Amino acid sequence: GPALPRPRETRVFVVANQKGGVGKTTSTVNVAAALAQLGQKVLVVDLDPQGNASTALNIEHRRGVASTYDALVDDAPLEEVAVACPDVAGLMVVPATIDLAGAEIELVSVVAREGRLRKAIHGHPLVGSLEEIGDERIDYVLIDCPPSLGLLTLNALVAGDEMMIPIQAEYYALEGLGQLLETVDMVRKHLNPELSVSTILITMYDARTRLAAGVASEVREHFGEQVLRTNIPRSVRVSEAPSYAQTVMTYDPGSPGALSYLEAAREIATKAVAV
Ligand code: ADP
Ligand code: MG
Repeated sequence: GPALPRPRETRVFVVANQKGGVGKTTSTVNVAAALAQLGQKVLVVDLDPQGNASTALNIEHRRGVASTYDALVDDAPLEEVAVACPDVAGLMVVPATIDLAGAEIELVSVVAREGRLRKAIHGHPLVGSLEEIGDERIDYVLIDCPPSLGLLTLNALVAGDEMMIPIQAEYYALEGLGQLLETVDMVRKHLNPELSVSTILITMYDARTRLAAGVASEVREHFGEQVLRTNIPRSVRVSEAPSYAQTVMTYDPGSPGALSYLEAAREIATKAVAV
């Protein structure tokens, strides 16, 4: 399809949901790869010590490689710890190593500890306005959060402009969302008034089950315009891709999962930002 217009200012997305296994990492890497395929310049920040996003994007993340940890704890400039994804043009990645697990504790005594990631992202010379920076400007930053509401996720919420919340079309889909949204309200009130929940993405949708349809309509009733029209289908190809160090966008580009992520990326890029 045609390339997408680039946003005037870099859009920083926080991909968060404190529940594990709802599709945060899968959605981060595939939306990122899809946006890049659509002509956008994208930076993924892996903020989960597990480093699953790094794995899926074929980025080395053994202990000792330059990583998000260095940016958060040691003030390493983000542009120095970011590496190019070898398989997707226009996509850069700041990998996470297991060291990041310690950051949660090491940062406790640091001044302005919840603002570290914001400082790192806004200090990146390619983050900002297209007009001022030019063609190399990063259009989208996607932060893949760990499954908790600790100091790492808090750093992401302070750093971001928008949130993307993946919701798995399963029993208890909305469980825990109240707590997440309370945290978002707290962050808005005290730390980052600009943060908006712009994007809800329904993942692992099984069109054959009444349960999935029920969950999807409940989510739409609850969140309205914030929910993307595209649901991501449950698909073995999506779940296989990371074991080949790939996103489904390169592993099986014509598969329903890849096409859905492409459509979701298009929606994100063209959607007016809701508050
Ligand atoms: P989180 O980052 O929220 O913990 P993941 O993105 O790692 O969640 O997804 C959890 C598991 O579900 C992974 O094994 C992943 O491969 C699988 N998965 C995610 N999305 C899909 C999908 N659309 N179809 C099938 N499996 C999926
Ligand atoms: Mg994850």
